[in-house]
Amino acid sequence: MQSYNQEIKNISVKGVSLFLKREDLLDPEISGNKYRKLKYNLIKAKSEGFTVLLTFGGAFSNHIAAVAAAGKKYGFETIGVIRGEELADKISDNPTLLSAKQNGMKFVFVSREVFREKDAPEFIGKLRLEYGDFYLLPEGGTNDLAVKGCEEILTADDAEFTHVCCAVGTGGTLSGIINSSGENQKVIGFPSLKGSFLSDDIRSFVKTKNNWELITEYHFGGYGKISEELILFLNGFYQETGVSLDPVYTGKMMFGIYDLIEKGYFPEGSKILAVHTGGLQGCKGMNLLLKKKQLPLLNYI
Ligand SMILES: *Cc1c(COP(=O)(O)O)cnc(C)c1O
Repeated sequence: MQSYNQEIKNISVKGVSLFLKREDLLDPEISGNKYRKLKYNLIKAKSEGFTVLLTFGGAFSNHIAAVAAAGKKYGFETIGVIRGEELADKISDNPTLLSAKQNGMKFVFVSREVFREKDAPEFIGKLRLEYGDFYLLPEGGTNDLAVKGCEEILTADDAEFTHVCCAVGTGGTLSGIINSSGENQKVIGFPSLKGSFLSDDIRSFVKTKNNWELITEYHFGGYGKISEELILFLNGFYQETGVSLDPVYTGKMMFGIYDLIEKGYFPEGSKILAVHTGGLQGCKGMNLLLKKKQLPLLNYI
């Protein structure tokens, strides 16, 4: 399916307009930016004769879900190295792992200590000895080819926007957007995790541009953490616009955009394009967690 720019009309501040680039519609399972990040990696893997993809992720990872679905769709076996040994006998309780398994992914469950070694050549070597040759995708899927794929998110028609906003995990997606943005556009990243390492990572992928910034006030306590206020915002956003947002990435970005609009961050006449990077598969798992914590649930899944 095609992505398109949908106007979000319930903005209370005059003189600012907001559009949402519906990248979540690209594929029902390989959603949003994960589709963009995989595209050139899978082309390379195919052309080099690889039949197996191996990657890493946590229990609710959108990247794990996307790699499993892409493997099934494009004819690769997939192996997911998953953080947390205790998950091995809890697959059926975890919507992300269950759907990845149904898409044919094999799992290797490892402890948090072992998982931390995931970039070490010795660990990769061991995996090759055990599972044979594979095309390696890093955790979160970010590498040069992933950034190249994300350079295709913005199109020539998007030059009319003054600001482009995107949620940030590893920064690969934002880097691609920066690379294809116009010098006169401002690109704003909303990290969903704490930490200051991101700017350096992004600088390594972004060659010449300086028209971007990270706004670090909207991570809600860190990766995967969400508050009652955020849930109520997302339920309200759905009610008013009909658009579902995931609570880990795009939900935090949209909360931030609304807050910044209210605070007058965007000058009059601003035309904002926010990228819906998908990730809705994680909502089911999030609702299970919310239920345990006796918090309100996301009511649109
Ligand atoms: C993975 C993901 C991101 C973050 O992408 P990075 O390239 O790692 O910054 C943003 N939004 C959604 C929905 C994601 O699944």
